[in-house]
Amino acid sequence: MSSTSETALKPGSPIQVFYSGNRGHLPTIDRAKGVYLWDTTGKKYLDASSGPVITNIGHGNERVLQAMNEQAAKVCYASRAVFENQPNRNLAKKLVGLAGPSFDQAFLVGSGSEATEAAIKLARQYAVAKGEVQRTIVLARNPSYHGATLGAAAVTGDPQSDAVFEPVMRIMPKVPAPFSYRLPEGVSVEEHALDCAKQLDQQITETGAENVLAFIMEPVGGLATGGLVAPDCYYKAIRDICTKHGVLLIFDEVMSGAGRTGTFLSAEHWPDARPDMVTLAKGVAAGYTPLAAVLTPNYIVEPIVASGGFLHGHTYSANPLSCAVAVAVVDEMLRMDLMSNARDVGAYLMEGLRKIADQSAIIGDVRGKGMLMAVELVADKASKALIPAEHRAVYRLLEIGIDNGLLLYTRKTAGGKFGEWVMVTPPLTLTHEEADELLHLFAKSISDFERELA
Ligand code: PLP
Repeated sequence: MSSTSETALKPGSPIQVFYSGNRGHLPTIDRAKGVYLWDTTGKKYLDASSGPVITNIGHGNERVLQAMNEQAAKVCYASRAVFENQPNRNLAKKLVGLAGPSFDQAFLVGSGSEATEAAIKLARQYAVAKGEVQRTIVLARNPSYHGATLGAAAVTGDPQSDAVFEPVMRIMPKVPAPFSYRLPEGVSVEEHALDCAKQLDQQITETGAENVLAFIMEPVGGLATGGLVAPDCYYKAIRDICTKHGVLLIFDEVMSGAGRTGTFLSAEHWPDARPDMVTLAKGVAAGYTPLAAVLTPNYIVEPIVASGGFLHGHTYSANPLSCAVAVAVVDEMLRMDLMSNARDVGAYLMEGLRKIADQSAIIGDVRGKGMLMAVELVADKASKALIPAEHRAVYRLLEIGIDNGLLLYTRKTAGGKFGEWVMVTPPLTLTHEEADELLHLFAKSISDFERELA
């Protein structure tokens, strides 16, 4: 394998330097429509990533733009200390309705990280309201990602971030994520997943169940675990463990929710493992405006309200403009039946990616659900060895994709010792024809990279 030259990420460099890689610049976005984007040179890109898995209904949706204009002309913002607003009510009702009978209330915020923070604070206030004041610990998985703010970073399983930010936050204990591709010798996927669940049970016992507030996890993995879907037995096991210990189960559906995996909540895939709270973001407003939510049942909200109310809020929480836009986005998702499309075209894409993997020496695994998929790269399929770090494999594939007019999603610390992958997460509007184009560009990008490695 030949070595590509390294890009030094200098302290203080803007984060975008990562994407510009060796070339030292990023293309400048000009416009976007449907699943395509154009830069200011006129170059066209097919969006195989929906940005960081956000533009679920595609770009430039006319009905959403109309709703945005109409609401903006009425009122963009009004203080919630003085006014309720109808778009807030409409959106909360819509989200709770789509989420099914386990949820009664939606608390609206502006980002996935804020949703994680709000879920943790709801869990804490619920415990305090019940007189269980010693409950302070939120368990999570390693690796995982739940957001960039300090509370969310504390439950994120990312040792690199911990090393830098530990002095300013209280890092929470982690249990292993149930990876399915690299398994301990002689152990089945199910056995391994159940062992990971058992480690949650042990961690709760070790921490003292009376000290634990909640366990947070992504039901279908995002970037941190690359589209990881555990076997069904895992979900039931962790639900039972949380129930046994009186620990709240929080599903982080910031990436996997809002139809991305073919159902409104990913939780719907495992009806015997319903979470106590769910966070949503990204696809709820699909990149048209910042909007996120925590869905909760009444049994969590009522004691908090009775004890004086939720001690939380942001200036932009539930602002009328964002809520009206999100209502229009969700309506469009339903009108275009994008959850069915996520299942149908998602399965078609998965099959196409697996065919490309069969022909490729460097694709070790293709996994995911609906239109939340990841492709894992390896140096050698038999040993599953990682491609040596100097090749910056996933970033290099991202750069080659950009050259070929294909947008993928990955990140600097993707995988590490757990492996490395690129996300294939196009807008849920993707047609079969566009899927063929995506697969063609992906196959080309993989063979360009293989030639470079040879
Ligand atoms: N949780 C998950 C699973 C995510 O994927 C992300 C973002 O990628 C977040 C939380 C944080 O969301 P945000 O970037 O909107 O703060």
